[in-house]
Amino acid sequence: MQIREFQELINTMYSDRDRERGSAATFLWLSEEFGELAAALREGTHEELAAEFADVLAWLVTLANVCEVDLTGALEAKYGSGCPGCGQMQCTCNSKP
Ligand SMILES: [Mg+2]
Ligand SMILES: [Zn+2]
Repeated sequence: MQIREFQELINTMYSDRDRERGSAATFLWLSEEFGELAAALREGTHEELAAEFADVLAWLVTLANVCEVDLTGALEAKYGSGCPGCGQMQCTCNSKP
């Protein structure tokens, strides 16, 4: 699955609810998922860890939908030509944002 397809899938499944909730409340859900990822890093199985990565990405994509940000476009614009700091495909600077 491509990132664009996943963003469209999340939009199809949840868009009405997500837009009603708004960006601030959606950000809280994303933050909660970061907490679950932290717990899985500490003491989860590999399967539980993978599931929490999926949740974090799903809520990040949800937030992008609420904010009407095309993640594929944003990623291509910022990282598609290499490191945003030095422009190299293998970074030679210390500017990772
Ligand atoms: Mg979770
Ligand atoms: Zn760099």
